[in-house]
Amino acid sequence: MNAMASPSPNPSQGRPLLMLDADGPLNPYEAMPDHRPDGYREHFLMPPSWAAQEEIRIAASPRVREPRPLPVWLNPGHGARLLSLPFQLIWATTWEAEANEFISPLLGLPDLPYVAWETPRPVQRGRGCWKTSEIVAWAAGRPFAWVDDEITRADRDWVARHHAGPALLHRVDAESGLGADDFASLSAWAAELG
Ligand SMILES: [Mg+2]
Repeated sequence: MNAMASPSPNPSQGRPLLMLDADGPLNPYEAMPDHRPDGYREHFLMPPSWAAQEEIRIAASPRVREPRPLPVWLNPGHGARLLSLPFQLIWATTWEAEANEFISPLLGLPDLPYVAWETPRPVQRGRGCWKTSEIVAWAAGRPFAWVDDEITRADRDWVARHHAGPALLHRVDAESGLGADDFASLSAWAAELG
């Protein structure tokens, strides 16, 4: 659980963590298929975990013969903007290691540490997101910002009770993805930490 894939010493260690979701903040899936925001490019990806789901779909339906690639919208400017933030970037997405293989190269991001979620997924507590307890465990008391489209008040309450350090839970709209206001909020929070 909570494995960390970090191939080499990272100069950004010591900064607050930025726990980064992919679907929603980087891939504004709720705008699909007809309302791609400005600046985003369309990609059709076939990560192994998606291919496995497609095999199940094909096996279940005699009318489906070919696996469909996964449509993903990404803004190529997001990599540089994320790297310019005073954070250590951590993938906190169901893509896990596949984020490094399939998303990072399209954004110009290096391989990042990632949260390897428990299997099976933790049971959702109340109305909170299923990721919350593992993100807090991964941060292990370090200051962190968490950027995700599924953050609710229940998660803020849970983090306040279970995480001793500073935390910013920043919800991003999955129709629009990360925007200038979101980057400004993250920068301002990190600056306040000092
Ligand atoms: Mg998401």
